[in-house]
Amino acid sequence: MAMNRLVGKTAIVTASTDGIGFAIAQRLAREGAKVIVSSRKLKNVEEAQQKLSQEGLLVTGLVCHVGKREDRQKLFTEAEKLGGLDILVSNAAVNPEVGAVLDCSESSWDKIFDINLKSSFMLAKEALPLLRKSKAGRIIFISSIAGFQPFELLGAYSVSKTSLLGLTKAAAQQLAPEGITVNSICPGVIQTNFSAALTENEAAKEASLSMIPLKRIGQPRDVSGAVAFLASDEGSYVTGENIVISGGMQSRL
Ligand code: NAP
Repeated sequence: MAMNRLVGKTAIVTASTDGIGFAIAQRLAREGAKVIVSSRKLKNVEEAQQKLSQEGLLVTGLVCHVGKREDRQKLFTEAEKLGGLDILVSNAAVNPEVGAVLDCSESSWDKIFDINLKSSFMLAKEALPLLRKSKAGRIIFISSIAGFQPFELLGAYSVSKTSLLGLTKAAAQQLAPEGITVNSICPGVIQTNFSAALTENEAAKEASLSMIPLKRIGQPRDVSGAVAFLASDEGSYVTGENIVISGGMQSRL
């Protein structure tokens, strides 16, 4: 892949020491961006930063729990040091409880909405002063196919992801006059720790594959290319879209 679409740009990718976030950070950096990688655990941050630096990529690593204001602030301070911010990818999400939506405990509901929705809202809000100074500001939320078609056992999580689709549309409308685009990516079943229950043994894998017309489990790199496109100048006329990357799984609200 010989593309340099993001040279001169700076990106923040949250929850980027593993899985989809790591693949996104890697892809943006491979296309020339300076990337700030982060997650909650220092050890994970150090390992991810080392892996990416060994490839010769321009990455800085920071500890950031997206639910903590002071941690989020560190991301923006770092971006300022690097010369500003062009691309915000809000990727963190949690699912503390497996079960149907109305069986979700109040504490899990609050946690899910705090991390999956509110932290994305806060990150976008807090990024704005820097994005407004960029020539091509981009906000990309990582939602989910479950935001379109709820997964029965991921009830509250699915609702949080549906609300991210709404946040995408509303923020895109608000920021369009300023030339800042806002989109979301909605992955299907992608092989990561987060989705291990859907892929870890043959029976689970078979059940997942039965929902996927392309008949393979997605990989993090299946998602990262679309993020790079949206972040690049080639994506400049796309805003307010919720882009599904699911191997053809049903996605209608
Ligand atoms: P993953 O492989 O489990 O990776 C999770 C990453 O998030 C790790 O780097 C983890 O590092 C970090 N993290 C967790 N909680 C955090 C927090 N509160 N603040 C900051 N970082 C945090 O997960 P994934 O599958 O790549 O999921 C990434 C995103 O894709 C999520 O928004 C998820 O909802 C979405 N998604 C995934 C799938 C799928 O099938 N995998 C499908 C649709 C959507 P630390 O432990 O060090 O914090």
